[in-house]
Amino acid sequence: MLKSSKDMEIVLSGIRSTGNLHLGNYYGALRNYIKMQDSYNCLFFIADLHSLTTHPHPNDFHSGVKTILAEYLASGLDPEKSAIFIQSDVPEILELYVLLNMISYKGELERTTSFKDKVRKQPDNVNAGLLTYPVLMAADILIHRANLVPVGKDQEQHLEMARVLARRFNSFYNCEIFPEPKAFNFGDDLIKVPGLDGSGKMGKSEGNGIYLSDDEKTITKKVMRAVTDSGPTEPNSPMPESIQNLFTLLKIVSDKTTVDYFYECYNNCSIRYGDLKKQLAQDICKQTLPIKERIDEIYNNDEYLKRVVKRGTDIARESALSTLKEVKSAVGFRSFL
Ligand code: AMP
Repeated sequence: MLKSSKDMEIVLSGIRSTGNLHLGNYYGALRNYIKMQDSYNCLFFIADLHSLTTHPHPNDFHSGVKTILAEYLASGLDPEKSAIFIQSDVPEILELYVLLNMISYKGELERTTSFKDKVRKQPDNVNAGLLTYPVLMAADILIHRANLVPVGKDQEQHLEMARVLARRFNSFYNCEIFPEPKAFNFGDDLIKVPGLDGSGKMGKSEGNGIYLSDDEKTITKKVMRAVTDSGPTEPNSPMPESIQNLFTLLKIVSDKTTVDYFYECYNNCSIRYGDLKKQLAQDICKQTLPIKERIDEIYNNDEYLKRVVKRGTDIARESALSTLKEVKSAVGFRSFL
């Protein structure tokens, strides 16, 4: 058991080990993880099984997991407060995944936006893992009977699927095993961190990431390259998407006075995008450089990483086993052994 209070809500979330963490991962997910550690029973994992949909090379697979682990810890996840574990170290998740697959339907899975997106973007690799991705994610969450799942806006639909499966399982097997998990963000809305390439979200596969491991020069270069236009010519003009994106990021990393100042400049047509970008780069660096400084040291401390994962896995497996026992009994399994 993680924390003594039985009344504390259970929090579960994870990030795929598909490359370094970027500002989208940090502000959409990780920053909430860190804030939640004191008030909830938290379990955070590295989704190495989910990363297999893109077929990482075996030589890179483990270092990918280690990278996220080191970046979690460098960002402030505290192994004394949260259980930190690797998805594939908890095989109970996979047993639940199989059982949930039996009550998930092809039509509903094909309708998820993320699946349709992948079919469009990688037509040569539409594997069954991609189709059942929301089922594995539901298993990740439901195996711990989590109540809250801190995620970015892009995961809203997957969370809905986890709720549908929780309800469906309870009703199918006439039990009350699973609560319905809710997406969580400390602000009012779930966050979508945009890319700086004009449109869309910041993402690992979009190639538009600003990473927690980037140095000052790299961050400044990336921000200064952001797409802009020639600027507004009339007061209070509507903002094109590329400029909205810059402001969205500014609102995330800068203080209110700075944001208000640049809005005013935009609205009275005196804005100089170069100044805005310089300020944005500085404010991103203020947030991420202290994290970057800790990443390498933690990455190279194998003893420490092993201790963190051992503790987290013990907690996660205890919780997973207890759920799976009830689940299997509800489905009708009785062992001869
Ligand atoms: P992934 O990198 O797809 O495994 O995502 C891990 C977490 O980061 C999920 O909770 C996502 O919702 C969140 N995330 C990824 N990209 C963004 C983004 N651009 N804005 C907000 N949250 C994001």
